[in-house]
Amino acid sequence: MPHLAEGIDRFQREVFPAKAGLFARLATVHRPRTLFIGCSDARVVPELITQTDPGELFVIRTAGNLVPAHTPGADAVSAGVEYAVAVLGVRDVVVCGHSACGAMTALAEGHDLASAPAVAAWLRHADASLARTAAAGRTGDVAALVRENVAAQLANLATHPSVARALAAGDVRLHGWVFDIAAGSVEELDTTARPAVAA
Ligand SMILES: [Zn+2]
Repeated sequence: MPHLAEGIDRFQREVFPAKAGLFARLATVHRPRTLFIGCSDARVVPELITQTDPGELFVIRTAGNLVPAHTPGADAVSAGVEYAVAVLGVRDVVVCGHSACGAMTALAEGHDLASAPAVAAWLRHADASLARTAAAGRTGDVAALVRENVAAQLANLATHPSVARALAAGDVRLHGWVFDIAAGSVEELDTTARPAVAA
């Protein structure tokens, strides 16, 4: 991976010196204002899309930007959400879906995932998204599933006690976005009509 080594070299020579003051502050302070939950897809880079500096976004990336609903017991996503909301005190949480999402495409088009059983099991967290898309008569429509899935994951997010508490206190706001890779655009979805999200 020579290009990664070259990247580190360029970062140290050109980027880090230009932001030396920022990194000096960040060395002892971690106070992001936003929790960004996006897809692991390599084309969806939160800091690039939002033009944010190190220290601004607390990022969780999962396949399909899925956030499992709260269950007793710990997992990486729950721990990340709780840490960001209850400990770091982020004020905004973004769930960002995107065009041409491999996870949503596999679900919408019913791909055979027999060779990827962990992926198949993980994508079950989008069952509600699939159901909503089907109920809207949009079965097989990837773009519709991407949007429904963002709304469904926001609802899942609200089941986490730390998020429920912060929502009740008015300390945090939830946002649903869809990033279009070809256009470079970000659409903010109107998710206020979702009772589970507004609760
Ligand atoms: Zn994706």
